[in-house]
Amino acid sequence: MRKLSLALLAGVALVGCGVDPQAENQEIVSNLVKAGFPADDIQIVDNQVYVGRDAHVTLEASLEMLQADKGAEQYRTTNLVSTSVKKICINPTSAFNSYSRLSAGLDAAIANYNSLGLSFTMVRGPATGCNANISARTMSGAGGSAGFPSGGLPYGIINIGTGLQSYSSGVNKHVISHELGHCIGFRHSDYYNRSISCGGSATNEGTAGVGAILIPGTPSTATSGGSVMNSCFSSSSTGTWTSSDRTALYYLY
Ligand SMILES: [Zn+2]
Repeated sequence: MRKLSLALLAGVALVGCGVDPQAENQEIVSNLVKAGFPADDIQIVDNQVYVGRDAHVTLEASLEMLQADKGAEQYRTTNLVSTSVKKICINPTSAFNSYSRLSAGLDAAIANYNSLGLSFTMVRGPATGCNANISARTMSGAGGSAGFPSGGLPYGIINIGTGLQSYSSGVNKHVISHELGHCIGFRHSDYYNRSISCGGSATNEGTAGVGAILIPGTPSTATSGGSVMNSCFSSSSTGTWTSSDRTALYYLY
């Protein structure tokens, strides 16, 4: 992903009326910095603001993060999906459905969640009676992106890399379960040191407390392969929840 420096952003002038996407992004970045996210972890790609490389942040979500109490340091965002949401429909685009591994991975990810008997059920759309909808779309590469909940609803889009067509069904299940995990409020389990799952040098997505709340009963330290919500996946992943993933999901939902 390309990185755009904050200095450059700050130079964007406010022009005209209505919603100026650049001005809005500037406000989101400003809110995230106030909420404690390190500036170099905030990226703007295709006019959307991301933290932690794959989590899209809307203006509304950034405002809610500002208002939240500071928590202790598996990690969740301050915003969660309301318990009144019982049926979450995941609606793949026709492009998404044209990739057999992605399409099967979506079914497997939905089954992954439904196997736990949580407060909500996920359903592959189109479907009726949905309390919330998430659009499953494609992107380039072999990763994914999503966002965090706001207003009691899950984030409404997951983008899944079409390069995953050449990975195993387990990896597809893993990545789609992971991106849906962001939509319902999970941060990366190794957010404080991405090198645990990604290798390379240690990078921290932001430890300021806001938006990275340790879920009771889960370890505060991440291990490679220890969570579907780690920043990077292994090409040998089966996509099955780990015990701490299950503990976190049961606790929240
Ligand atoms: Zn992620």
